[in-house]
Parts: sequence; C-alpha cells; structure tokens
Amino acid sequence: MHEFTLTKSILNMALEASHRHGGLPITRVSMQIGSLRQIQPDLLRFAFESASKGTPAEGAHFEWETVPAHIICIRCEHGFIPAGVFWICPRCGASGGEVVHGDELVLRSVTLKDLSKGEDQNGN
Ligand SMILES: [Zn+2]
Repeated sequence: MHEFTLTKSILNMALEASHRHGGLPITRVSMQIGSLRQIQPDLLRFAFESASKGTPAEGAHFEWETVPAHIICIRCEHGFIPAGVFWICPRCGASGGEVVHGDELVLRSVTLKDLSKGEDQNGN
C-alpha cells in the first residue's frame, strides 16, 4: 500500500505545522497530486483519516488538486501530454522526455482551527 507510506510523511508535515502553533487542531489539509504519481487520492484520504486518529489532524478535511502530466521531448523540446505509460513525442517520435508537471506530491496548505474565533482561519 503505497498510499499508507506516503500518508505518514504528509501527516508528519501537517502535524509540524500544528506543533508550530502550539498544537492547534487541523481542520483542512490541501494537496497537489501529479497524475504521473501512481496514487489514488481516495486511498490517500482514507489512509490519512486512519493515521490521524488521536492526533490534532483527526477529522481534518482532506482535499486535493490533480496536476495533469506535461512532458518536454528530450530531442526536439516539444511539450506534450503523454497518452499512456510510454512517452512518445507526437512531433518527432522520440521516446522519453523530461517531466515538467505531473510528478507533484505537495502539501499545499494546512488550515488550523482558530480557537479564539471557534472556526476555521479561512472563515469557512
Ligand atoms: Zn520530439
């Protein structure tokens, strides 16, 4: 279970943010997930929810944005979106390329509960 391993580092980063603010509860975790990552966001969320039990991140809303793949051909530098697992340049036919987008796995933001107001910092 790839997702469960990743969850641990995501959770640790989120908890660090909470820790820096005196252990405030986490209400929301936002991720950016590249489509080239072999990740099922639903599984990631499930894993996060399980792993966060008993921590300040318990019950946090887990959301994500998928980043589409974008490849630059190594021969002609044409940018393209790969159709499958093989990256064939539609212009020159070369295989392989450099990843510009699509391999992201980024913790974009962590929202902490503002105890003084009793609601999210984002005011949701
Ligand atoms: Zn090319």
